[in-house]
Amino acid sequence: MDKIFVNPKIKNILKYYKRIWSVKHAQSLLGWDTKVNIPVLGIKERSVAEGELSFLSRELLTSSRFVELIEKASKEYLNDYEKGVVRVLKRDIKIAKSLPPRFIREKSRIESRCVKIWEEAKRKDNFLKFKPWLKRIVEIERKTAEYLGYDRYPYDALLDFYEEGLRMKDLDPLFRDLKKGLKRILLKLEKRALEIHPIEKEKYEIENMKKVNLLILKIFGFPLEKRGKIHISEHPFTESISINDVRITTNYEGIDFKRSLLSTIHEFGHALYELQVNKRFDFTPIGKGVSSGIHESQSRFWENIIGRSKEFIQLIHPILKQNLKFLSNYSFGDIFDYFNTVKPSLIRTEADEVTYNFHIILRYELEKLIINEKIDVDELPKIWNEEMENLLGVKPNNYKEGILQDIHWSSGIIGYFPTYTLGTVLSAQLKKHILRDVRDFNQKIINRDFSSIKEWLREKIHKFGSMYSPKDLLKKSFGETIRVEYFLDYLKQKYIK
Ligand code: MG
Repeated sequence: MDKIFVNPKIKNILKYYKRIWSVKHAQSLLGWDTKVNIPVLGIKERSVAEGELSFLSRELLTSSRFVELIEKASKEYLNDYEKGVVRVLKRDIKIAKSLPPRFIREKSRIESRCVKIWEEAKRKDNFLKFKPWLKRIVEIERKTAEYLGYDRYPYDALLDFYEEGLRMKDLDPLFRDLKKGLKRILLKLEKRALEIHPIEKEKYEIENMKKVNLLILKIFGFPLEKRGKIHISEHPFTESISINDVRITTNYEGIDFKRSLLSTIHEFGHALYELQVNKRFDFTPIGKGVSSGIHESQSRFWENIIGRSKEFIQLIHPILKQNLKFLSNYSFGDIFDYFNTVKPSLIRTEADEVTYNFHIILRYELEKLIINEKIDVDELPKIWNEEMENLLGVKPNNYKEGILQDIHWSSGIIGYFPTYTLGTVLSAQLKKHILRDVRDFNQKIINRDFSSIKEWLREKIHKFGSMYSPKDLLKKSFGETIRVEYFLDYLKQKYIK
């Protein structure tokens, strides 16, 4: 086996990095435990420990000896693996050095208070209560952009923070074309549901749904217990603790089973990415998925391209019927429609494949306004409602269905929403390419033969971890950048033809 890290300075860097890796390892384990396991009162000490650990990892990362070593290494001849190590570390160090510790402390204090205020404001449908806090968050995020630095627009700094290299000049044309194409599809749609699908109202026993999820993870070959775990949490997520310890969560609402099923499949997509990173990147800065957008392309690929396909539903139909008895009242066609109903709606997380991205377009436009144009937070609900009507022809009746629906802004996450669209658009681009490379893709799904699909994803995306930037990865594996037309074609084929 070839050595992949050869340069002596890089070897030194990696030796030192093992300590940073270990702190991060502890952080993600604590993060996981905080979200799925901790007793209510334990949160107080936990947040102190989490805060201290993040300062420790910042200290280690920005120590002058380490920074100097990286500077020196970057001037030498390096192979692609080594260049990847330097690129990731330089970026991490730049971010860590830009944000002063006092600012981070203040930021996280306000964010955790604001989430609590948001929860209550949402419950009581009271935007006035949330407004002053949202103002503070917006001020903090504008300041964050100033600290991080940017060429033209402050919002670019926030975009880059979540997706390396992403700028408004990439997103403006992408969202423009997407909006135009999606509006056209929505108009031509054959089956546009007016009411909710009857299966959405069917209740299920949680134990039965657990069985279904486990059977599906088994079909996909998720290495449960060996390298992975599944737990329950309100908002499903994936935590990669190490290359051999990747955990996912799902949730069970007891009604409308596709929500639990598709969440499980979505998180499986995230987990598979982490599980298939080159094992020799273990303990290094490149041993993880490269960005939120690329990560989301993996989860969406499994959730939508595979999970909502006719072939997949055909494959799991017997499992569903056996465990969810109410399905005996419905035909295969009913069940397929249930997974693929298109209906303009107000809530982003409940949206279908066609209307989902309108929700992101709205948030993108608003985030640009509050960060770049400095419009007042007071104006947001009005613009939100008008734009919603403009985009999807539906208008919120209250704040819960409008501006108060998402947790993101209350937790200081501005600039992240666009990565959801990147992922969705890319997932269709992956389908275009996999159809060329993997013979009988659709038939393989029916035959529960996922090995060549997983292998293809490994070779094109997963194995590289973070060694290439998101844009370079796409260029290297597919010879192109992100393209909207594949996604629009996919939707047209599925929903119009
Ligand atoms: Mg996701």
